[in-house]
Amino acid sequence: MNKRLDWHKSQWSRLWEPEAGPPHAMLLVGVKGVGKSLFAMAMAQRLLCEHPASRLADACGDCPSCRLFQSGNHPDFRHVIPEADIEEGEADASSDSSDKKKSNQILIAQIRALEDFVYIGGHRSNRRVILIEPAEAMNVPAANSLLKILEEPPSGVYFILVSNRQRSLLPTIKSRCRTLSFGRPDPADAEAWLTRQEGGKKALSLLGLMAGAPIVALEEYERGRIEAFEGVALSLFDNSADFMALAGRWESMVKKDGGLRMEELIATIQKWIFDLANFKTTGRLRYFSGRERQAEGLVAKTNIDAILKYYNELLRIRGLAGHPLNPKLFLEDVAARYLRAIAPSQS
Ligand SMILES: [Zn+2]
Repeated sequence: MNKRLDWHKSQWSRLWEPEAGPPHAMLLVGVKGVGKSLFAMAMAQRLLCEHPASRLADACGDCPSCRLFQSGNHPDFRHVIPEADIEEGEADASSDSSDKKKSNQILIAQIRALEDFVYIGGHRSNRRVILIEPAEAMNVPAANSLLKILEEPPSGVYFILVSNRQRSLLPTIKSRCRTLSFGRPDPADAEAWLTRQEGGKKALSLLGLMAGAPIVALEEYERGRIEAFEGVALSLFDNSADFMALAGRWESMVKKDGGLRMEELIATIQKWIFDLANFKTTGRLRYFSGRERQAEGLVAKTNIDAILKYYNELLRIRGLAGHPLNPKLFLEDVAARYLRAIAPSQS
C-alpha cells in the first residue's frame, strides 16, 4: 500500500479532519526527499478508496479501487511527470521512442491531455485524482493551461501538486491551491524509518550529507553511490595531497560509471566547507556528522576568513560546474583553492 510517513500525521489530519474532506487543489511543498511524493500517492489512493475504515484512516489497501491503484492501472488516476522521468516500459505505446532528447519539463500537451479526463466523469466513482510532480517542471504555457482547469474544477476532481521549489511556481497557481509544508523530519524519525527499509541501515551514513532527507539517502544507496560520496569525503579529509593529485582524484570520480556528476562533486565540497566554517564557530557538523575528528584535524590551524572566502568562491564555481570548458583545469582550480583555504594560516 502507498504509505505516508509517520512524521506526516499532522498534514494528513489537517486535510481529512474537515467534514468536507480535502480541498480540490493541494500543493505539497518542501525540500526534496522528505516524503512528499509518498504522501501524495497515499492521498491519491485514499481519495479513490471505496472502503476506508474511517475518515482519518489511510486507504484500505484491499478494495477493487485500491487494488487497481496499487497495480498502477487505476482509470481515475493520472500521474503527470516530465517525459524525461518516465521510466522505460512505463511510457505508453503512443509516445515517440526515437532518440530525441526527452523534455525535463511538463508540457502543455500533457495538461491538455487531461481535459477529457477532467470533464468526463470517473470510471469507478465520480472521483478523479491528478498528481503533478514536480509542479515547477510545468512550463508557462502548461501552467496557464492548468490554471484554466483550476479556476473551475468540476466536482469530484482533485489536484495534488508536489513542488520542491515553490518559488518557481506561478503565483496564480499557488493561489488556487491549499499549500501544505513538509519540513525535514526529526533525525530520530528519519533514522528509524531508514532502518526499517531494505538496505536502509547502509543508507544511514548518507543521511547527514543528504541534509537529513531520508528518501534521498535511500535512493542514493539504491543507486549504489555510497562509495562515490565516501570517496569524495576521504579526498577532502586529506590535506597532504598536492592540488594536481587531488584534482586527478576528483576527475576519476566524475568520469567513473556510477560516479558523481560535476555539480554533485562541487555541492559535496561546498557542504564540507560549510561544515568546516560551522565547526570552527559552533563545534558542530551538519552534513558530515560523525566526522568531527577529521574536521578538527583540518580546521585547528586554519583561518576562518579563508574558509568563508572559499565558500563564496564555490557559490560562483558551482554555477559553472554543469559545463566547464575544460574539466581538468576546472578541477585543478577548485582543488588549488581548496588546499589554500584549509592551509594552516601564516600568522
Ligand atoms: Zn480501498
